[in-house]
Amino acid sequence: MVQPGVKRDSVRHHPAVNGPSGASDELPLWVRRQDLTEADLPYIHTLLADSFEEWLEQADGFPWLPACRIVLLHPDCTRVAVSPGDADAPAPAEWSRDILGDTAASLAIDSCRPAHLRADEHSSASLRAFDSLAVPVFSRTSGFVFAALACLLPAGSAQGSELKLLQAAALHFRSCLYRRFELLFVRDLLQSNQLTSREERRRNMLFDVMRRLHDHIDVENVLSEVFNSLEQLYPLCRSDLFLSQDYSSTNEKVKPLSFHLQDMDLCWRAFMDGERREETDAGRRRIAFPLAGKQGVYGVLRLDVAEDAFDEVDVRFVAMLTGGAGTAFEKARLHEQANVLIGELRLINELTQRLNSSLRLSDTMQFATAELLHLFKADHCFILQLDPMKGHFTVMSSNVAELHQEVFATDYGFCGVMLSTKEPIILSDYRSATPVSSHLMEVTRSRSLLASPLLLNGEVIGAVMVAHEQANHFSYDNYKLLQVLSAHLGLAVSNASLHAEVRRMVITDNLTGLFARHYLNERIQRKQEKDVSGSLIVVDIDHFKKINDTYGHQVGDAILMQVSTIIRAAIRESDIAARWGGEELAIYLPQLSLDQTLRVAERIRKRVEAETAPKVTVSCGVSEWTSGDDRVSVESLFYRADMALYEAKHRGRNCVAIG
Ligand code: GH3
Ligand code: MG
Ligand code: MG
Repeated sequence: MVQPGVKRDSVRHHPAVNGPSGASDELPLWVRRQDLTEADLPYIHTLLADSFEEWLEQADGFPWLPACRIVLLHPDCTRVAVSPGDADAPAPAEWSRDILGDTAASLAIDSCRPAHLRADEHSSASLRAFDSLAVPVFSRTSGFVFAALACLLPAGSAQGSELKLLQAAALHFRSCLYRRFELLFVRDLLQSNQLTSREERRRNMLFDVMRRLHDHIDVENVLSEVFNSLEQLYPLCRSDLFLSQDYSSTNEKVKPLSFHLQDMDLCWRAFMDGERREETDAGRRRIAFPLAGKQGVYGVLRLDVAEDAFDEVDVRFVAMLTGGAGTAFEKARLHEQANVLIGELRLINELTQRLNSSLRLSDTMQFATAELLHLFKADHCFILQLDPMKGHFTVMSSNVAELHQEVFATDYGFCGVMLSTKEPIILSDYRSATPVSSHLMEVTRSRSLLASPLLLNGEVIGAVMVAHEQANHFSYDNYKLLQVLSAHLGLAVSNASLHAEVRRMVITDNLTGLFARHYLNERIQRKQEKDVSGSLIVVDIDHFKKINDTYGHQVGDAILMQVSTIIRAAIRESDIAARWGGEELAIYLPQLSLDQTLRVAERIRKRVEAETAPKVTVSCGVSEWTSGDDRVSVESLFYRADMALYEAKHRGRNCVAIG
């Protein structure tokens, strides 16, 4: 049946109705003025039948027309219902359609008046003994005929009173029908009103959710907001959110979108197409809504609901919710990514500043090791330097003391791989899949690895490796960050190496490879601040001018080198040998007594005499200082050694004298 209220009025408020027993008097006038129209006729069979039934119940025991059955007809002359009537009354099956349809009832319907046909007017022989009566039933306002009541009475018994009774029955029936009609009308109104307010509630909620979604700038809150809204609206529905592998969440309802699982086919298709997908199975409806933003699809929300508990309006609502959530998720992700990038930039800035604040290679590397361990929450860190001349990598810095200064061939392990590929490495589990064997990983029992070559002008100068004893420790973001950091670390290491090289050159004498005079001075000065004693040997080649004159300067240089080599071999590692100037060399021997120093000088003198070619001899002047001296200074130490040397020359050379 058409919904009369919806069609005719856009009524928003409805009267209170206390179920079917409520009296229509309690309904407001505007409801009572509602009426059937001719357009409703094709749909009113059920209304007619139900109202007839109700009328029969209400009229039970009332002596309407004792010996007859009453038939209710639709204006199209179909029989809608028949009263049980008296057992002796002719059963409807015996009634010819002609009798009632074409004659009395149709007469009543067509003429809009009661009709009374006498027995002899009936065409059917079996019903000759009956009169037929029919009355039309009019609509209450417009007065068109929407039904007719008809009955058969024994021939000749139909008097005016029977007709009146039938008319009264028609009126009673009509009031029963209108009561039902009003209830149906109000029920329809209520339903549409409920529908409207449910829609409104959902719209309001959607608006609220969207506003809150876009207020959140972190992904976790966006996801919780989605679940809270769903729980509030559909407490019986099961919801899961599957996020693609790039994103993770602490929310237990959020799972990774794994494509190999069979029951994920629906989600997989929704994810790939970015379209809603749906399947029905055993009374359950499973709907996959893609969580999409402007830049891509991030996951899929899957709902599992009873088939009848979710209509198309609900589907549209959840689709709008996931659409909004997708955009909010994207925004929150971008915000998080921007924060991560800002954090990384700040970190890189701080790190490079601190890396470059010291030009000492060991300081730089130690600092970098500590920072990388902290930054990647790693168990182990190694910084290796490549020595291309010697063809190996050396561990320059590590938190694993036993591996410090460990040396590896250039084709070994991960450093070997990086030397040839110049690419960084991320390894989730060394035990389950490793392209090469690695001493560093094995000694430290590490499983996860991040490694990056240190590059300078596109050439590998070293490598940095961070490792963790658990598998899958490092993320892809870690990998990218290490790659960026290693570029800066490479520069810092190379700066520090260059600086170390320059310093080495500054303090080293080119020809002899011994230290330069200023460095010797600095060292003696520092030693005198801390030590309690020390001694100095000044070595001067005898008649060196003659060597030069005889053999030339090149041979003279070679002699200088030979003498320097002998000196280096004759002293301890803690002693400091330098070129004092020209063909004079000096050796400072910390904490050595005068006797011991004399023995060293004597050893040098003898070896020079024995080992140089062309043969030369040296004269040595020795001096010492102790903390008890009146005046402890580098100058006085040299002055006394110089005096002693003069003495040695004076004695005829090739000897050692004490100053
Ligand atoms: P003495 O035994 O008294 O020390 O005689 P000497 O000839 O060694 O001393 P003198 O101071 O007269 O001459 C030192 C010479 O050493 C002068 C200079 O040509 C030479 N000489 C200084 N530095 C170098 C150098 O770097 N290479 C060479 N080949 N000769 C040098
Ligand atoms: Mg000299
Ligand atoms: Mg000399």
